Amino acid sequence: MATATGTNPARRPRPKRGEGQWALGYREPLNANEQAKKDDNPLNVRARIENIYAHGGFESIDPGDLRGRFRWWGLYTQRKQGIDGGKTATLAPEELDADRFMLRVRVDGGQLDLDQLRTIAGISVDFAQDTADLTDRQNIQYHWIDVRDVPTIWDRLESVGLSTQEACGDCPRVILGSPVAGISADEIIDGTPAIDAIESTFIGDKNFSNLPRKFKTAISGHPDHDVVPQINDVAFTGAVHPEHGPGFDVWVGGGLSTNPMLAERLGAWVSLEDVPEVWKGVVSIFRDYGYRRLRTRARLKFLVADWGIEKFREVLETEYLDRRLADLDAPAMPETPADHVGVFPQTDGRFYVGVAATVGRISGTLLHQLADVVEAHGSTRIRTTPMQKLVVLDVDEDRVESLVAALDAIGLHARPSQWRRNTMACTGIEYCKLAIVNTKDTARVLIDELEKRVPELDTAITVNVNGCPNSCARIQTADIGLKGMLVNDADGNTVEGFQVHLGGALGLQAGFGRKLRAHKVAADHLPDYVEKLSRTYLEQRDADESFAR
Ligand code: SF4
Repeated sequence: MATATGTNPARRPRPKRGEGQWALGYREPLNANEQAKKDDNPLNVRARIENIYAHGGFESIDPGDLRGRFRWWGLYTQRKQGIDGGKTATLAPEELDADRFMLRVRVDGGQLDLDQLRTIAGISVDFAQDTADLTDRQNIQYHWIDVRDVPTIWDRLESVGLSTQEACGDCPRVILGSPVAGISADEIIDGTPAIDAIESTFIGDKNFSNLPRKFKTAISGHPDHDVVPQINDVAFTGAVHPEHGPGFDVWVGGGLSTNPMLAERLGAWVSLEDVPEVWKGVVSIFRDYGYRRLRTRARLKFLVADWGIEKFREVLETEYLDRRLADLDAPAMPETPADHVGVFPQTDGRFYVGVAATVGRISGTLLHQLADVVEAHGSTRIRTTPMQKLVVLDVDEDRVESLVAALDAIGLHARPSQWRRNTMACTGIEYCKLAIVNTKDTARVLIDELEKRVPELDTAITVNVNGCPNSCARIQTADIGLKGMLVNDADGNTVEGFQVHLGGALGLQAGFGRKLRAHKVAADHLPDYVEKLSRTYLEQRDADESFAR
């Protein structure tokens, strides 16, 4: 029906709602997270932890700090013990909170020396009930941390050059770097100076501590994409320009979670010296133009998808760099990202040894043992990897086999089965408040069973186990991605289980696994299910046919 003015209200164009982009004038917070960040820069919470909460204990913590700003210093409340996954979505946050914390230590570039390794180990033993997890972003995560101990932990970490600053929160997170930077014969260029420059200049800079959401960076000059560049907000991968020589190819807009997207190449080449400036330009675009209205659309990938890569590059060059970047044709892509597990020669004649720590679960005790073993074999350098692995550098040839045996004896395997090598798991229900199912224990049992049942597996089948629909263990890019959920078993009981995603990959044939609606597996039946899948693949594969493609 027409109105008195003759206009049908149903057809009148509605004013377009803004996305909360600062550069378009939307400076007023549009949700509680944005309000909290505006009320007080989250980095300021450190002073309150040191001066108030460490003395008053958990009960003295302001709720806005507890579930918000603490993250900027690597602290998340830990899940209260004994609450099953069915209650994850139904209980209020405070009902899920234990009075202890997960604490994430950022290890930019994954680079650790023995002092740092022993410091991390000591904190685990003294303050974290001997917990330590290797994450798939080269971090170390503790659990059971009491806020009263946090200043002492910071003192210890900072005395050896480590930090928890911006390890979580809406800010630039740890910078992934090649675990074999500076020593690999295959490396195109060592990205470590760029990682160091960004870390020392911009981490903790309040100009970049209020981003729309998390911002993930990867920098590697290794040709085998060992920092999973396709799923980072910005990535710099080694590339040789025909005129300018070795430098970096630039990618933007990757990310997983509930709306996975692969990063796109800018089609531009950047020198090592210019990486920090270009990084600053990209993170500034995210800060200024990123969507802040809805948390679910607040990652850079949504802006890149809406703008298109040409416009993104144009805005970067005209508004933030004031110059054109050199064009670069697409370099060759690796088949799959390298994990560096095994024994490999370095450029200086020595060797590096990459080992699998089963699903990234380690401990302070193990890290102390690792430090002793490494030192006894003449090395002082260790690296964490984005595959939840560890790499020992600088080993003389005549000590390699002794090192491999000593590492094996403490549960770190340089020649693991394909199953142990290629299975990852996120934190899961033991500690994570969002989790619906147990992940680490389920994955361990799965590996043990598959090693017995399908020992003949001669190629990689990646199995990534997540405790909820988030993708902390990258379910969409695994051959077999397992998303935690509650399922009904044969007797109709509700039990822990997984939605299956099949056929995901990174590298040359990158793509997301297909969600098979009918494939929901109870956790107890997981070994049967994966055994059957892998046997079918082994029996029916053509020569050189991978599981995913
Ligand atoms: Fe927690 Fe879910 Fe991330 Fe696993 S995927 S660590 S359960 S948020």
